[in-house]
Amino acid sequence: MIRIFNTASGKKEDFRPIHEKKVGMYTCGMTVYDYAHIGHGRKYVGDDIVRRTLQYFGYSINHVQNVTDVGHLVSDEDSGQDKMEKGALKHGKSVWEVAEYFTDHFYASMDALNVLRPTIICKATEHITEQVDLVKTLMEKGVAYDTPEAVYFDVTKFPDYGKLFGQKLEDKKTAVREEVHTGEYKKNPRDFVLWFKRVGRFENHIMYWQSPWGDGFPGWHIECSAMSMKYLGETFDIHTGGIDHISIHHINEIAQSEAATGKTFAHYWLHHAFLTVDSTKMSKSLGNYFTVEDVIQKGYDPLALRFFYLSAHYRQQLNFTWEALSGAQAGYKTLCNLVRYILDKKNAASSDEISQAAQDFIDTTHLQWTDAVSDDFNMPQAVAVLFEYLKRIKDEVELSGADYAALYDEVIALDSILGLKLDHVKLVDEVNAPQHVLTLVKEREEARHEKNWNESDRLREEIIRQGFSVEDTSEGPVIRVV
Ligand SMILES: [Zn+2]
Repeated sequence: MIRIFNTASGKKEDFRPIHEKKVGMYTCGMTVYDYAHIGHGRKYVGDDIVRRTLQYFGYSINHVQNVTDVGHLVSDEDSGQDKMEKGALKHGKSVWEVAEYFTDHFYASMDALNVLRPTIICKATEHITEQVDLVKTLMEKGVAYDTPEAVYFDVTKFPDYGKLFGQKLEDKKTAVREEVHTGEYKKNPRDFVLWFKRVGRFENHIMYWQSPWGDGFPGWHIECSAMSMKYLGETFDIHTGGIDHISIHHINEIAQSEAATGKTFAHYWLHHAFLTVDSTKMSKSLGNYFTVEDVIQKGYDPLALRFFYLSAHYRQQLNFTWEALSGAQAGYKTLCNLVRYILDKKNAASSDEISQAAQDFIDTTHLQWTDAVSDDFNMPQAVAVLFEYLKRIKDEVELSGADYAALYDEVIALDSILGLKLDHVKLVDEVNAPQHVLTLVKEREEARHEKNWNESDRLREEIIRQGFSVEDTSEGPVIRVV
C-alpha cells in the first residue's frame, strides 16, 4: 500500500485510486517565458518519482501536464506585467516564439534529467474553448460576475474557499499585500480573474481570443481546471505542484472546479518543497540562478544532479551548492562502479541458476525497498537500500558467479524508480575512453562487418597499444582498461 502525504488532510494517507489499476495525475507545468532552472528540475524529478513509483506498483498512469503559454501575470495575483510579453521583450522574440523556444528548452532539460514525458502535454493556448466553456458554467451557476475589466470568480459564493488547505477567507483578506493592485470592479479582495478583457492596461495585449465577454485572454488558474478535467475527468486521483502553489493557485483551481461540478476535484494533493542555492532563494540578481545546461557545462553529469535531488525527501527543503553537487557526482560514480562490478561477474557467469541464499537476499532487499518507496516516496531511504544491497554483493563471498544475472536484474528493477540509468552502465565507462580509442573500436566493428579479419586484428592491436582491450559480446563490443 502506497502512503501519500496529502496536503488536503495534512497527514499521510493510504493511496486508494478511483479505478483499481489506473491513476489520473495532473502536474502544474511551466510558464514558458524564461529558462527552466535547477529548482524546476527538482520539482519535476519529484513528480517523475511519484509517477515511476506508481508504475512500479503496476498502475497505468495518465499523466497530464499543462504548458502555460498564454502568459499569466508576473505575480500569482491578478496584477503586474504579463510574463510572456516580458519574456518576449527581454529576448527580442514574438510572444509565440518565446513560448515555443522555452517549451522546447524545458523538455530538453527534463530529458537530460531522465524525467519521463507526461502522457499528455497540453498547451493553454490550444484549450481556449474549454476555458471559455468553464467560465460560462461558472457564470450560469452564479459564482462568477462580469465587469468592464474582467470576469471574476466570487469567492464569497463558494463557502469552502481555501478550506481544504486550512485557510479562512477572513485571513486571506487581511493577507492581501499593499502593493497588489486590486481591480476597480472586484467585489472582494480575494476574487480572482477568470477572463481578462482587452481593455485598460491590457488594451494592447498581444495574445487574445474572442469570448462571450469580449476579446481577451484567460486568467492563469482556469487553464489547469479546464485541461485537467478534460483529460482526467471531473474528479481524479493526484494533483501536484510546488509549495508556492498552495496559497493561491491551487485554492483557486479547487474553487472554480468544484463550484462548476459540485464534485471533489482531486483526491490527493502533493506539494514539493523548494530548492535553495547557497542557503538562499535562487535569483538572477544574486548570480545563483542555474540551469541544467549550466550544470552540464561545468562538467557534471545531469544524472548526478538527479542523484543529488534524491538525497532529500520531496517535502524537505534542499540546499544546492557546487560542493554538494561534486559530492553527489562522486556518489553517483561509486554507484555506477558497484553496478559495474556485478555486470563483470554476470558476464563471466556460465549458469543461470540462482542459489537460495541469493534469492533470499534479493527478497529481503525487495521488502526494504518497497517499504521505503511506498512511504510517501522516501528516496533518501530507497537510495540507502540500494547502496547497502550493492555493497553487500561486493563483500559477499558465498554468492556464486551464476547468481549475478538475478542480482543485476534486481538493480535494474529498483532503478526503474530512481531513474539513474543504471541499465546504461557499461563495463568500462565509455565516456572515460578517449575519443580516438572509440573511433578505433568503431572502425574495427566496420572491418568485422565486412569480414576483413586482417584489418580487424590490426585495429585490435592498435587498441591494445592505446591501453585498452576490446571484447566482442552479444551486446556489442565491450571496452576495458588493460
Ligand atoms: Zn496549475
